This record gives sequence, C-alpha cells and structure tokens, in this order.
Amino acid sequence: MPDPTATVDTGAALPLAARTAQLRSSAIGAVLRLAEAPGIIPLAAGSPAHELFPAAAVEEVSGRLLREQPGILQYGDTAGLPELREWIAAHVGARLGAPPRPEHTILAHGSQQALDLVCKALLDPGDTVVVDRPSYVGALQVFRLYEAELAPVPLASDPGLGALTDALEQGLRPRLVYTVPDFANPTGAQLTLVQRRRLAGLADRYGFVIVEDDPYGELRYDTDGTTAPPPALASLSDRVIRLGSFSKVLFPAARLGYLTAPAPLAPVLGLLKQASDLGNSGFIERIVLELVTRPGFVDDQTAAARTLYAARRDALALALRRQFGDTLQFDMPGGGFFIWARFADRTDAAGLLAHSLRHRVSYVPGAEFYAAGPDRATLRLSFSGCSTGDLARAAGHLHAAWSSAAAGGLAAVAPGGGAAR
Ligand code: PMP
Repeated sequence: MPDPTATVDTGAALPLAARTAQLRSSAIGAVLRLAEAPGIIPLAAGSPAHELFPAAAVEEVSGRLLREQPGILQYGDTAGLPELREWIAAHVGARLGAPPRPEHTILAHGSQQALDLVCKALLDPGDTVVVDRPSYVGALQVFRLYEAELAPVPLASDPGLGALTDALEQGLRPRLVYTVPDFANPTGAQLTLVQRRRLAGLADRYGFVIVEDDPYGELRYDTDGTTAPPPALASLSDRVIRLGSFSKVLFPAARLGYLTAPAPLAPVLGLLKQASDLGNSGFIERIVLELVTRPGFVDDQTAAARTLYAARRDALALALRRQFGDTLQFDMPGGGFFIWARFADRTDAAGLLAHSLRHRVSYVPGAEFYAAGPDRATLRLSFSGCSTGDLARAAGHLHAAWSSAAAGGLAAVAPGGGAAR
C-alpha cells in the first residue's frame, strides 16, 4: 500500500511518452537566442527580411475585413479557406504542369505542421526515412519524434543518385524520402532535372513516398525570368507530397503553409489536421487571400524579394571571398537564404562558434544538419536577414574570430569528421 504522505516524485508521476526521448534540443535554438543579443550580426537565423513584410497592406486589409465581415472571426473550414486552396492549386499548378484539385490541398500552420501531419499519416516507429546529407534540421526533428530510422544518403551532391540507387538495390526500403529540391536549407543546392527524374523513377519502382518541401522555390536569383525552373517532383510522379509555405514570400507570422497530396492520402491528412487543431485561423487565411489575389501583388512581392536577397547573397559571398580566399569553400547558391561553407583547413565550426560570438557574429555549425556522421568543418551562413553593410562586416568578424582561434590553437577536425585532437 503506497504511503499517501510520501513526497511525490514528479518525474515518476509524470512520465513522458517514449517518443519524446527522440527529441534533441537543437544547437540552432541556443545559437538563435545568442544571436538575438544586441551587437551580434545574426548569420544564424534563417529569417526573412522584415523590410519586405507587407505590414501596411495587412493593416489596411485586416481593418476593412473586420469592419465589413466580422464573421471572419468564426471557426473556419478545417482544411482551409476554400478560395485560398483554389488559389494555391492554380498557383502551384503552373509549376506542376496541371493544377492539383483544391480538395487535395490542405492548409497548415506553416509547412512545418504539414510535415508533421505527413509523418503522422505515414510513419510507424522504426520506419526508414531517407534524408539528404546534410538535411533541414526542423525536418530531422519531426522524423525523430515519430521514431523513424533516419537513413542519411547524399542526394543533391550526388549527380546520378548512385548512392541512393545502390542502397535501394541492397535492400533499403524507405517509407519516405525527404528532399528540399530548390535552394535547400542548409546547402542552397538545387536538384537537377536528371536527379529529379531518377528520384521520381525510384519512388515508382520501390514504392516510397517523396516529400518535396519547397519553401524557397520562388526565391531564385540567377535568372532573367526567361529560363523555366526545373519541374517540380510532384509533376514527375504520383507518389509525391508537396509542401509549400507563405513564410518566405509573405511573412512567417501568418504561420500559413500547405500540402498537396495524392488522392488517397488527402482525406486522411484532412482528418489528421482536424484532430490536431480543427484548422488554421480563418482570419489570417482571409487576409492572405485578399493579398495574393490583388493584381500584381505576388509578382511584385516576389520580384522585390529576389532583388533584395540576391544583393545580400552577393555581398556576403564577395566579403567571404575577400576575407578568406580559398580557406572557406562554398558554391554560390542560385536562390534561398543560405551560403553553406566548409573550412579547407578543417577548422571545427562548432569549436569556432564561441570565438565568433565574442567577435559579434553568429552562424550555425554544419554538424547540426547531419542525421549521422557530421562534417564538422561546415557551417551555414544566412544572408537573408542582414543588410549588405552588416554582411560585409560579418565576414570581417568571422575572419578575425577564425584567426584568433587558430592562434589560440583551436583543433581542426580529422578528415573522417571526428576531432583531430
Ligand atoms: N522547410 C524548410 C526547408 C525550411 O527551411 C523551413 C523554414 N526554416 C520550413 C520548412 C518551415 O517553414 P514554415 O514557416 O512554413 O513552417
């Protein structure tokens, strides 16, 4: 008989579900908190430029809607405002060849929740999920929460997808393959047409589902507008769930993303959305609908974003090259928010971070983005949220940190990835 007066051990009395054991507190969270500190130039946060937020338009539209249609504060449609789903279907249809049916499009709290719903629908504990090497850390966290077995395989850096093909031939049977085909987080890489066709073909042959996460596809910087972007994976296979987001082109506080799913999955995902939260904010959905259906609004917003981010990317790339020469290697990203770099002298980017924060610049150590076997000499530098002047200064700060760390004897990492000493 338990003693009712005994001290309660809250740890035992409130045991956590087993799945929470998979959760890791990400270093990104810690770095982002530090990066907020005054005086630090934040190359860690992958935040959109606040200068682009359509604050005046949001104020005008929301005020008018509240005056004219107070009913918009009511609960809405679980799968999202029908007119906005129609707009999304038509909008993404341009990239897909044919528009998806609006009822196959479900709105979610950011593409992050869309990914959560997909995992809830498709993953049992122990199912295998193939992720790129490196991959988006927010997705890794969701896969871990659903107790997936992560199989990191190089995708974007493997022109013929030979490693994935070999792994499948040798018996790997993933339930999902997760990819950010356009200007990935963290690498900025884009899958080629050949890679897209191969991946789609492999999905059809081996029966896995591709999750095509596309928050950055509209933010491409090296085109005069006449070159068509490569086709979406969803246009190449029926086994693709495509995720999209209003966070990067409109504003992330809308917390509005969406998924487009093949016919048999869409109703299941709709029910999961209902069970999760009954639906997004109909008020925000209506504001977004008003904005995106204004003639020229999306085109103007996208054009302004491309111009601003391209200038920021160029400023950071130029400053890094000036400061580091060949010591810091990177490919110029054709879009997105990030420069993914690697120290040729194999400086440990995680070890360098404390020095960098003292020199008033932040970044994310690349090891965070690997499901296993990290390359510790890599780092993710985000140019999206800083002015060109700050970006030029940031490269100088980073170089000063690197020089002082080297003088202080910061260990390089061994070629295999572990610490050399
Ligand atoms: N996927 C990727 C690859 C991202 O970089 C991000 C944002 N960092 C998201 C999804 C989440 O976007 P959202 O704001 O739509 O949830």
